[in-house]
Amino acid sequence: MSDCLFCKIRDGQIPATITYRDQAVVAFKDIGPKAPFHQLVIPTQHIASLAEAKSEHAALLGKLMLVASELASAAGYRERGFRVVMNAGPDAGQSVAHVHLHVLAGRALDWPPG
Ligand code: AMP
Ligand code: ZN
Repeated sequence: MSDCLFCKIRDGQIPATITYRDQAVVAFKDIGPKAPFHQLVIPTQHIASLAEAKSEHAALLGKLMLVASELASAAGYRERGFRVVMNAGPDAGQSVAHVHLHVLAGRALDWPPG
């Protein structure tokens, strides 16, 4: 999608620190980290929100989770723990309309979230 921030990061039109890329998934450092480790994992395919996802996206969404786990583990947070979060819609605070999984680690994370 031409006016989507994360599509532009995917395409290299906006700079980001890319940490993982394959045909289906791209990961990069969040520009405003909320924890010592904070990366975003996105599908290369533009899907505006989890609320827009269809059954055909099931494997892709599962892959986001596995990449998130691999990134956190590779950074040393496998044992200590990490959190994955996907905001969908205004009440959840979704600010970029391209599905993205937050991967947070490196500090104790509050529960429930605010
Ligand atoms: P959400 O609020 O769940 O939609 O998350 C959007 C995330 O994108 C926020 O954590 C932002 O800090 C992050 N973000 C916004 N612009 C950029 C950018 N140019 N590069 C990396 N992360 C970004
Ligand atoms: Zn997009």
